[in-house]
Amino acid sequence: MTNCPLCQGNLRQIHNNFTGYIEGQYFPIFQCQQCQSQSIQSQEVDYNTIYESEQYPWYNKFIEIAKHHPKPLKELARLSAIYKPVYDFINTQTKPLRILDVGCGYGYLVHSLRRESHRALGIDISSKAIETANKNFGNYFSISSTPAGKYDLIIATEIIEHVQDPRGFIQQLMESLNPNGALLITTPNKNFYDSINLQAIWKTDLPPVHQTWITREGLELAAKPFAVAFYNYPLLYADNYFNLLLEARAARNNYTPLPKINKDKTHTQPDINLPKKILKSKTGNRMSTVLARIITQDHPTLSACVYK
Ligand SMILES: [Zn+2]
Repeated sequence: MTNCPLCQGNLRQIHNNFTGYIEGQYFPIFQCQQCQSQSIQSQEVDYNTIYESEQYPWYNKFIEIAKHHPKPLKELARLSAIYKPVYDFINTQTKPLRILDVGCGYGYLVHSLRRESHRALGIDISSKAIETANKNFGNYFSISSTPAGKYDLIIATEIIEHVQDPRGFIQQLMESLNPNGALLITTPNKNFYDSINLQAIWKTDLPPVHQTWITREGLELAAKPFAVAFYNYPLLYADNYFNLLLEARAARNNYTPLPKINKDKTHTQPDINLPKKILKSKTGNRMSTVLARIITQDHPTLSACVYK
């Protein structure tokens, strides 16, 4: 292991044999000296095994919602904070968009977007997930890790922490956007634990299912090579109030330095008892999501959203 997969900073090993997802597997854990993100030595994962482990019963619930709820996208956003930015984004749109959901799983988000009249497609590396998605929602899904074609909106909710090369992942998605396209990325937020001084090691899905546990700075630095300028976005979702929300726009020739992190954490500092409740919740990291919204070029609808 040489450098941080997010920011290329130097790594320090903070654990020798951390328990892995599969019994009997152990992983050294590294922490970046620059961005404080944690990582393992990247490796391939068999996602069919993950889907078959049935630790994610809400996936089946979401299939039913997408099929039968009168407003499935709104309902997904109500049930899971990671879909709120998608819902908000879609609400600002006036025309059908060509959308790709990367790591689409069972396809309920794609189907919910199609029910809003968008031309949404999904890709996933799990053949089991794609089979389930196509069976339930029609042939809009394919087994792939890389986008084919160009899109107005690319969504990758809770995916970047699974990939072996998060910088390359962002680059690939950026290159698959139409002019004025947007990229929405969410990932569990390591800063949440740092903010309450828990000094936690890998409080996210066990390695190698998650290969990184990312801080705001790590996500910003990973996107920085693509000349994306970030704006601190103090508006936090009501039930997601201690998470970070980042807004980013491309500034290819005119990179805007990162704003200083807001020291006033009164609105982001949770009750110390809260995390335990959240960690026990079925949806796990529902409240621990870093959100980056990366926009390739000026986007009038979104700028209204940014500065409201
Ligand atoms: Zn780093």
